[in-house]
This record gives sequence, C-alpha cells and structure tokens, in this order.
Amino acid sequence: MSKPKVGVFSFASCEGCQLQLLNIEDELLDLLGRIEIVNFREAMDEKRDDYAIALVEGSIVTEIDVEEVRKIRGNAAFLVTIGACAVTTGLNGMRNSVAAREAWKRVYPDRDFDPDVAPEVRRVSEVVKVDFEIPGCPIDRGELLYVLTTLLQGQVPRLPATPVCDECRRAGNPCLLDRGIYCFGSITRSGCRAICPAFGESCCGCRGLLHGAPIEELIEILDKKGYSREEVIVRMNQFNSRDDQVKPLTGELGRLRKEVAA
Ligand code: SF4
Ligand code: SF4
Ligand code: SF4
Repeated sequence: MSKPKVGVFSFASCEGCQLQLLNIEDELLDLLGRIEIVNFREAMDEKRDDYAIALVEGSIVTEIDVEEVRKIRGNAAFLVTIGACAVTTGLNGMRNSVAAREAWKRVYPDRDFDPDVAPEVRRVSEVVKVDFEIPGCPIDRGELLYVLTTLLQGQVPRLPATPVCDECRRAGNPCLLDRGIYCFGSITRSGCRAICPAFGESCCGCRGLLHGAPIEELIEILDKKGYSREEVIVRMNQFNSRDDQVKPLTGELGRLRKEVAA
C-alpha cells in the first residue's frame, strides 16, 4: 500500500514550527516509515505537488501568498495549519495596527512599497478552507506527532478546549496573578502544559483564545493589579488581533489613547 504523501509549506513566519517537525528526533524515522514527504523546502530539494496532506505554516501577507495557498489547497485532500502565524496570524498580525504602506515605511524607509503586499495580514483560514489547526508559538512537537499519527489512523484528532490555568494549577505552579503580574492563562487554550508560567513567564495567549473567553472579567482583575485597559488590549493584540472577541476591544484603543492624552 502506498504511503500518504505530505507536503510542508511556509508563508510569513520564522519557520520555527517547521523545525519542530524536524525536532521529533526519536519518532521521526518511525513517522517517515509511514508517510512520504514530497515537498519540504526546509529539509529537501525535491518538490512534488502530489501530496494528500499539506502542513502549512505562516501568515498570508501578500497577494502572491494568496495564490500560492489556494494552489496548495487545490492539491491537498487535507490541509493542516501549524503554529500561531498560520492559525491566528501570531505576531505578524501586529502589522494590522497601521496601514500596510505605513508599516512598510517604518520597516523599509529607503525602499519603494511592494504592491504585492496585502492590505491586511490574514490567517490561512481566512483565505482557504482549513481542515485542522495546531496552535502555538511554536507548536508543541508532541501535539504535532499526536495529530499526524491520529490522522494517519483515519481518525479525527482532538485538542484540549480548556484554559491554560487548568494545566498550570495541576502542575502546582504559583499563580503570577497573585504576584501582581499579568497572565492570559484563563482565556487561552491549553495544551502547552502551561510551559510559560512553569518558568515564571506570563502566558501571552500564543495558542489562541478560548471561545467565550472571560475577557472582561480578566481585564477587571488586571485593572486591580495596576494594568490599564489599554495596556491589556495591546497585549491581547500581540497574538490574537484577528480574534473576533478581541477586535471590538481593539476598536476602543483610539478612544482610550485620547483619554490618556487629555
Ligand atoms: S508560530 Fe512562532 S515559532 Fe511558529 S513560525 Fe510563527 S513565529 Fe515561528
Ligand atoms: S499563572 Fe497564569 S496560567 Fe497559571 S494559574 Fe495563574 S493565571 Fe492561570
Ligand atoms: S503558556 Fe500561553 S504563551 Fe506560553 S506556550 Fe502556553 S499558550 Fe503559549
């Protein structure tokens, strides 16, 4: 029986999520025995378009990306996005806080604007149908392995739909909020074993927000810790500016800034 063919593709990203695939050192050989990788720029020269599964990393930032991801979608029976850049736009989405031309001018003051730059940075799912999303910056390699092996068994993978706080509490980490430090663990999807709070770092929401996340309740708690509403919204925009729950808050920023300036 022929092995399922897999292609790995990258758009605007640091390519760290692709590297996680290469980092599954112990299991990679076993995995490679069960799939055939036919397109993976990071790891091989061969480039074929007869893949059934496409793993797509990165945000869609140019009109060329739009054409390319549509072509990939057309070739693949199953398309999986890997990592925050692809799933939520990740850090790339911060570009959307200003017009594309303005962002270009700030980064490349001496170069003419590239007309292929799209007006907005988009998630892959805003451009083509996505069958499964693996969140995180970077993705968790154990989760990647679980998703791939489950798909290869013909089953649908399931990722946790609980907050990071659940994993954090179970791990017995001291809560950063108790120390007056912001943390978005209560509104963020778990699955990372609360790795940031485990090392004393705040969760900044890289795995994306839970549906129906208690955002206003968290803003109220953080207000009591001395974080302004504006600051909290700006931090939420770091990874989740395209989330429908954050967009209305982002719209408030102009008003809040005027209030602060007045
Ligand atoms: S999600 Fe993070 S690690 Fe993955 S490609 Fe984007 S920036 Fe890199
Ligand atoms: S440190 Fe963060 S993730 Fe952990 S319990 Fe507190 S708020 Fe939740
Ligand atoms: S703790 Fe939060 S920021 Fe850190 S990996 Fe998990 S979801 Fe991402």
